[in-house]
Amino acid sequence: MDQTLQETLISSIRTIPDYPKPGILFRDITTLLGDPRAFRRSVDELVHPYAGTRIDQIAGIEARGFILGGAIAHQLSAGFVPIRKKGKLPHDTVRVAYSLEYGVDEMEMHKDAIKPGQKVILVDDLIATGGTAEGAVKLLKQMGADIVAACFVIDLPDLGGRKKLEALGVTVRTLVSFEGD
Ligand code: AMP
Repeated sequence: MDQTLQETLISSIRTIPDYPKPGILFRDITTLLGDPRAFRRSVDELVHPYAGTRIDQIAGIEARGFILGGAIAHQLSAGFVPIRKKGKLPHDTVRVAYSLEYGVDEMEMHKDAIKPGQKVILVDDLIATGGTAEGAVKLLKQMGADIVAACFVIDLPDLGGRKKLEALGVTVRTLVSFEGD
């Protein structure tokens, strides 16, 4: 990706100090989504390596992964599968516990959302410790998905999430990174 695009994307992301708690620098992508050029270029850049290849499903992580994932699914002519916090999906689900900064939570996917062998790309806005994405990868593998890649707009490399996913054999694609946490 060229330098100018990277600068455009970085300047379209708003940083909010001490949200949701003291010491956290929250990387807010609502400003990127609200900027037509930055939104479009982010989606174009994320899908670039997969254009013209067969991708069956995009799995998006609640909630910002739904927005990016929907646009990516459209661009790749793929389906969209939501991965949600427990209790939100109406039909039979598969569920996995995943680690958060403090404690654990659970996420779910519909049992019939993905067929074994389908080619899937996982999408979220940001990867930090990788706990959330790791949970999603476990769910997808449980369903027999062929995970082509995990895509994020933002990487926080100091928190090690990318390495965690790569250790699971997942290809990770990110557009911009911010130092620190
Ligand atoms: P993690 O499981 O640590 O990789 O955290 C990733 C999830 O938490 C993603 O769904 C992000 O949207 C959210 N998240 C974690 N840290 C931040 C941050 N500094 N700014 C914005 N969102 C974050």
